Amino acid sequence: MSFQDNLKEIRKTIERVGKHRDVDVSTIRVVAVSKQQPEERILEALESGYRLFAENRVNDAAKIWGGEQGLKARYDGVELHLIGHLQTNKVKEAVALFDMIETLDSVHLAEELAKEMEKQVRRVPLLIQVNTGEEPQKSGIAPKDLDAFVATCRKLDLPVQGLMCLPPEDEPAGLHFTFLKELSERVNLPKLSMGMSGDFEKAVPFKPDYVRIGSALFGARKV
Ligand SMILES: *Cc1c(COP(=O)(O)O)cnc(C)c1O
Repeated sequence: MSFQDNLKEIRKTIERVGKHRDVDVSTIRVVAVSKQQPEERILEALESGYRLFAENRVNDAAKIWGGEQGLKARYDGVELHLIGHLQTNKVKEAVALFDMIETLDSVHLAEELAKEMEKQVRRVPLLIQVNTGEEPQKSGIAPKDLDAFVATCRKLDLPVQGLMCLPPEDEPAGLHFTFLKELSERVNLPKLSMGMSGDFEKAVPFKPDYVRIGSALFGARKV
């Protein structure tokens, strides 16, 4: 199946669920997760006119998308999101390369991002990753710490727009999407990034701004 065919199927599913739940799905954007995909698949997507992508590692993203020969320079209007943990030693590169960072997950990172954005005079919109399942191996702000963390971000004048989550694999995703939506209303950060290939149907009723889809769009990743 081509990228276009897969995308059409995904949009059809989003519309079907939306209709059933009486949700306007026109604002839901599919973020094409291109991490670990062969470059020809990414090129196929770009040639078909697609422009919204995400990567989970700064180094890998810089190789493919960055620089004068990179895909961002070669295709107008590309929007690239970072969806993996950002180490503070990569903040400079990340602020220069990405158009949204969905994985703000610590006070230290918030401080470094604030400094770097001021230095580069480039305000990159941010989402706070919330560890809704409180899994020790996952990054993200614990729900109980979210209010204080949001206050810190506001003090730093960071362009935080919303929240993202990655539900635990062994729990119903819908519970976590419900929880993230409640949290976003509580802290008044309305943008939501939730749902991947396996669970985006469950995210649609919450009208997320972004669903992050990799394998269902591009096929299985390289190992
Ligand atoms: C890899 C990844 C995705 C996409 O996963 P698929 O199951 O291939 O759709 C979405 N979000 C994050 C944070 C990821 O790391």
